[in-house]
Amino acid sequence: MNETFMSYLWKYRYLSPEITTESGDLLTVFHPGDQNTESGPDFFNARIRIGETTWAGNVEIHVKASDWYRHGHHSDPSYDHVILHVVYEADRQVFHQNGVPVQTLVIRDRFPGWIFDRYRQMMQNQQWIPCMNQLLLSGEKGFDFWAPALAVERLEFRTNSIRQVFHDCGSNWEEALYRHMAGSFGFSINAQPFGMLAKALPYKIARQHLHSRFQLEALLFGQAGMLERVFTDEYPVSLQSEYCFLRDKYNLEPVEGSLWKFLRLRPSNFPTIRISQFAGFLQRSQSGLFDLARSGSLPDIMEMLAVEASDYWHDHYVFDKTAITRPKEMGPASIRLLIINGIVPFFFFYGVEKDQPDVCEHFLGFLEQLEGENNALIGQWKKAGLPTQNALQTQALIQLKKCYCDRKRCLECRVGEGLMGGRVTGDG
Ligand code: SF4
Repeated sequence: MNETFMSYLWKYRYLSPEITTESGDLLTVFHPGDQNTESGPDFFNARIRIGETTWAGNVEIHVKASDWYRHGHHSDPSYDHVILHVVYEADRQVFHQNGVPVQTLVIRDRFPGWIFDRYRQMMQNQQWIPCMNQLLLSGEKGFDFWAPALAVERLEFRTNSIRQVFHDCGSNWEEALYRHMAGSFGFSINAQPFGMLAKALPYKIARQHLHSRFQLEALLFGQAGMLERVFTDEYPVSLQSEYCFLRDKYNLEPVEGSLWKFLRLRPSNFPTIRISQFAGFLQRSQSGLFDLARSGSLPDIMEMLAVEASDYWHDHYVFDKTAITRPKEMGPASIRLLIINGIVPFFFFYGVEKDQPDVCEHFLGFLEQLEGENNALIGQWKKAGLPTQNALQTQALIQLKKCYCDRKRCLECRVGEGLMGGRVTGDG
């Protein structure tokens, strides 16, 4: 037995209807209270009747009554308004600070056995997610209601790293967006070196060269540490010479070239190609990166991101090595990822910082309009029968897997509520 399961039983009123407290009085629950996940009692604002008296206050849950003392609640004023102590085992009489006994309800043998069996099966399941068997048998319940809130949870989590970038660049929105988008062009494998590159080449310098793709690429490849050797092709040789001039002019320090990862990447995802495409993206936003993205519609932003690597890269994936000629355009799936992982979280953060919920809603709406990602994790969810059509659903599913399934938080999960036989609602 554990407190999480006991809280679940209390919250969803799975206890026998005719139930008495340790003092022998009949207990009636009008409202189990609002579950509290912070410090303090487990449920606030419960309303119950014990015998002839109606009470309003807090409820505390423990496996053993003696945990009240073990956790130090006897000397903590935040527990003075506990009106009921729900325990599995009453191994000790418990008193408030003023000497009054705390009303106690023992729930052992007072809830349906099947619900504990279902819970135990899930917790012991070693499959990809604990509820896989139940999902396959009974289908999805509760996810549709919950998906928008889960997607917001994921965005809120992602705002932590964006906030850090924003503070690092002196609360400058344009610079922060530039750095954040650079990280997104790294597509997770090269996100870190891309972020370092953007830090080593501030936007205020890059924007002075937006008129020239050649100068922009000289600055980007040079600051990426990729022009530190002897070349034979004319293009990298001239990039190198332009970079040396610009490096001295702006007193720049390149990042370590060995940070870039090529291994296990398809050549079209090589950082060389992504850097050239990033230069193209910057060029498209000459009138102001931030304003363009902030006010652009989804098709406008997709258009901004539909960039091609420069001519040299048509028949190269790396410097000095010719390959079959093929223009290197950003594909539709990559554009979607740049919006899902770059644009939407950034402007969601902007909306939060500026206290403009309409901005958050606007960019959240992009997720509903975009096709969902297609990766191994989403493939597993598809097998489990959950909807993966749009990016709001797929982002919600990523959050569900990482923050709930992997931590076995099935009793806090709306899908789990449905599968366990709990109430499924659209609120909260
Ligand atoms: S957290 Fe929810 S979706 Fe994940 S395994 Fe548990 S019940 Fe299933």
